[in-house]
Amino acid sequence: MQDPFVNLRVPGPTPVPDQVARAAARPMVNHRGPEFAAAMTEVVEGLKPFFGTRDDPLLLTGSGTGAMEAAIVNVLSPGDEVLAVTIGVFGDRFADIAQAFGATVHRLQAEWGKAIEPDAVAQALKEHRNIKAVLLTHNETSTGVTNDLAAIAAVVRTGGGDAPLLLADGVSSIGALPFEMDVWNIDVAITGSQKSWMSPPGVGMIALSERAWKAYAEARMPRFYWDFGKARKNGTRGTTPFTPAVGVVHALQEALRLMHAEGQEAVFARHRHIGVSIRKGIKSLGLELFADPAVVSNTVTAVRIPARVDASAFLRDLRQRHHLVVGSGQDWLKGSIFRIGHMGWIHDSDVDHLLSALRSALQTARLEEAV
Ligand code: PMP
Repeated sequence: MQDPFVNLRVPGPTPVPDQVARAAARPMVNHRGPEFAAAMTEVVEGLKPFFGTRDDPLLLTGSGTGAMEAAIVNVLSPGDEVLAVTIGVFGDRFADIAQAFGATVHRLQAEWGKAIEPDAVAQALKEHRNIKAVLLTHNETSTGVTNDLAAIAAVVRTGGGDAPLLLADGVSSIGALPFEMDVWNIDVAITGSQKSWMSPPGVGMIALSERAWKAYAEARMPRFYWDFGKARKNGTRGTTPFTPAVGVVHALQEALRLMHAEGQEAVFARHRHIGVSIRKGIKSLGLELFADPAVVSNTVTAVRIPARVDASAFLRDLRQRHHLVVGSGQDWLKGSIFRIGHMGWIHDSDVDHLLSALRSALQTARLEEAV
């Protein structure tokens, strides 16, 4: 049995409010019937303002990575040149997916902990004149950095109608951070149910611009399960091409009701406020942030683990004695940072618990160090 109280602060899955958990556990319905159609329609409508688009997002059955793969195979053909902008693990993953399906991938990297400079993207696009799509992570969850998506999108679109497509991984941003797909000219925007949406994992949400739909008509990468045409056609009838994660769609319906009752601007303001409180608290504990302060994320905070503190013992102590679960470092950052997820269902009391648990576990780690 799980402890009755767990402060789950990994950057996804995120905590699910009780009403949402109850919705996920509702009896199953026919996914070709009117009840599911009503739920799906409500979810699609509820998502639109958070994506900042007038078009209907598609619901895909899978995690964020599945939706990233879907984005690649639906708008590209083997041999297409792409510019993959990467500032961490998830930018690398997007590049790797494109490569796996036969795109010619040019990687533009920034030092981990920093954001990409829009000028660097402009420069790379000058060097590579045939780029079909730019891949970009809006909020890099492995380092706790938010890229300036609006500024980068403006750079990508300077070429006008012939400009490359911009595919944005908004898995850990959309629903918590301002995101204006139509205004910024984003062509494909991707997120997943287990992040800002306070729902269990299992549904990827993705929206496409008109230019992306044109690219879909010509794209020749192999695809079957992830076919946007099938998803759109079924979507207009309030269903999905294949059996959806019905319980997750019910959860999303309830979660979106909560988000809209709070108000979109209030949701964003709460994330800003929580981000500031966590960073202030972390510094007051004498800990250092990993990310460049100018580009820190309001959904994920990466914190350096002090030298001589054993990372796995520290995380175990947090979990076992304090019921606080945070994320470990990924890739070469394993053991040297930990990551706090603060998107979705998070309030001041969770931050108070988080900081007091960290204070106590740090004291323990330092006492052990002194022995
Ligand atoms: N991109 C980003 C920015 C993410 O944070 C994550 C999940 N941590 C993913 C992609 C992959 O999503 P999933 O784990 O749902 O496949």
